[in-house]
Amino acid sequence: MNGAGSSGVQELKLEPGHELRMEVDWGKQVHLQLLEGEAEVFGTALDLRERVAIGGQKVAVYSWRGCTLQLEGEPDLMYTSDETPMSQYLNIHDGLDARRQDARKDRKEGPRTFVVGPTDVGKSTLCKILLNYAVRAGWTPTFADMDIGQGSITVPGCIAATPVEAPIDIEDGLPTDAPLVYYTGTPSPSDNPALYRHLVERLAAVLDLRAQSDPQVRASGMILNSMGWIVELGYELLKHTIETLKCDVVLVVGDERLYSQLSGELKRSAPSIQVLKLPRSGGVVVRSRELRQAARKVRVEEYFYGNRKELSPASQTARFEDLQVYRVGGGPRAPSSALPIGATSVADPLKLTRVTNPQELLYTLLAVSHAPQPELLLSVNVAGFIYVQDVDAAKGTITYLAPCAGPLPSSLLLAGAFKTYLD
Ligand code: ADP
Repeated sequence: MNGAGSSGVQELKLEPGHELRMEVDWGKQVHLQLLEGEAEVFGTALDLRERVAIGGQKVAVYSWRGCTLQLEGEPDLMYTSDETPMSQYLNIHDGLDARRQDARKDRKEGPRTFVVGPTDVGKSTLCKILLNYAVRAGWTPTFADMDIGQGSITVPGCIAATPVEAPIDIEDGLPTDAPLVYYTGTPSPSDNPALYRHLVERLAAVLDLRAQSDPQVRASGMILNSMGWIVELGYELLKHTIETLKCDVVLVVGDERLYSQLSGELKRSAPSIQVLKLPRSGGVVVRSRELRQAARKVRVEEYFYGNRKELSPASQTARFEDLQVYRVGGGPRAPSSALPIGATSVADPLKLTRVTNPQELLYTLLAVSHAPQPELLLSVNVAGFIYVQDVDAAKGTITYLAPCAGPLPSSLLLAGAFKTYLD
């Protein structure tokens, strides 16, 4: 590696099978160019001489056959390594590719692959790599993100899916043109596991229909990302997703115990499911709780302003009485200690309650529903989100940020249970 000159531009040579790991903080950018050879960022190939901006990201530039790169700017951390699981990941892709080809021949459904493991083992990264390799091989896989804590497709709190037709853009991330989105309104399924299960079932039903209507989508299969909660209720929810989305390949990343528990259990209950274990890449960066929280806020900002602040969201004011805002759950369940002996709390976790006090919506995200009537709010996907910036109780108005100007596609809104403070 040559050090950065006074111009801040340096050339780097990557040997075959090596990767360059870089961390660039939020609010900062470095630019990368492939000068010679071939290289990819999590499966997305770099074009020769194309200048790619890396900002607020931790990435690895991997080269199968070696390359020369040019770097402008100073990453906060940078080093190379040849200890990567890329060969194992490619093997997995080859296996999935063979299954997709069989599926196309037999007019069947391609593999539905669920990536599971604890937080910060590279699950989302492996999903990206497998999606990109599938696209590069001519498939149109569906990506489904069940990780409501981070929410890579829209905002946190969502279960969502999107078809992936082109390699994932290194700067802009996943395509967001036509995602199928369901809003749980919380970053943790423990707040309302029944709602989480319900929405996973809704998503599965719609994805089944989509797969039936398009042979290419059907043969391409799905790649599903999971949340990093793998014990107790988290483990039960993983099994629920495997069953509901009819996953037939489960990739367990970086956790022997989870692998042995899941493979043992699935061998007995569903022997046709292939459970494979994969190592965690040494390059994966572990994030603190605070960083994860900060990442959630960044995701919400990106939803409205774009990754590179290229969008201009509109701030608008509406009369609260013109909106129908609902929340899920009839309030907190009574603790069992407050109930007569032997009685259990019967609060319906899917009960919808109309919000009558606009003040409680301040700094929350509201999902704009496609549902034709309130009773269907939890059965129909959402069109998008608005963020409540201000409430004027005296005038009875709320001021909100929307991705674009103009009237909302619906006045039926679902309120989230967490607050995000955008600057
Ligand atoms: P998980 O989904 O398991 O929580 P991620 O895939 O989101 O983990 O990875 C955590 C962080 O590590 C992400 O910022 C990701 O870009 C980064 N990362 C993953 N693999 C590498 C690698 N090989 N080199 C550098 N950074 C990486």
